[in-house]
Amino acid sequence: MSTIIYPSPIFGPVHSRRLGISLGINLLPADGKVCSFDCIYCECGFNKDHRPTLPQPSRQEVARKLEAKLLEMQAAGQLPDVLTFAGNGEPTCHPHFAEIIDDTIRLRDQYCPKAKVCVLSNSTFIHRQQVHDALMRVDDNILKLDTIDPLYINKVDRPNGTYDVKAIVERMKAFNGHIIIQTMFMRGECNGVSVDNTSEAFVGPWLDTLKSINPQQVMVYTIDRETPAQGLEKATHEQLDAIRDRVIAAGIPCTASY
Ligand code: SF4
Repeated sequence: MSTIIYPSPIFGPVHSRRLGISLGINLLPADGKVCSFDCIYCECGFNKDHRPTLPQPSRQEVARKLEAKLLEMQAAGQLPDVLTFAGNGEPTCHPHFAEIIDDTIRLRDQYCPKAKVCVLSNSTFIHRQQVHDALMRVDDNILKLDTIDPLYINKVDRPNGTYDVKAIVERMKAFNGHIIIQTMFMRGECNGVSVDNTSEAFVGPWLDTLKSINPQQVMVYTIDRETPAQGLEKATHEQLDAIRDRVIAAGIPCTASY
């Protein structure tokens, strides 16, 4: 099975039709994964199989290497369209996440003012005021909410510590619309237990919760790469399109990626 451990603190750029040129910023160690979730679909693999020995990059190292990469891209005449915080786990767990966001916005303004700063997060640290405030300063604050069913979360997202989905949803509302919700839909089973969240029992309550959060956008997607758990299946195009259309009908812009 092939999983991906990204270089740190800078990786890419990756060219995509949807985002353009995306430069990755990985605040996790270069030789393993650190995440407050342990999703059965994680492209980095299971936490236990990728324990790092290296530390997280320092704030200074991130700024220095980001600036060096932007200078290199500037010289090549190909600056990024988006600076994306992602990589080997949860970026907001970095103790200096807020300061790194400020450094990144400063460097973005200096080298590529049209580029967006985008963060992909699992939402587990949004109760920290500094993390909340930093996410308010980025262009795209993309937060994971795969379901609102606690049993499903424990089975699929597998939080390491206490995770209270109701409290997370309340904190999502506190972004006052400056939030993009990202939701993984899939079918199949894991260890003989269904992990299908495409049925009405999951989609209906999730949609009601979205209306209460009132995000600027929703992104629904499905498995795209090999997964560490066996037996998972992609949601179908038809299922994703139907879910997307229900979100749009509720007045919230929504995209579906297959
Ligand atoms: S939240 Fe993201 S990085 Fe963390 S385990 Fe899940 S998919 Fe992997």
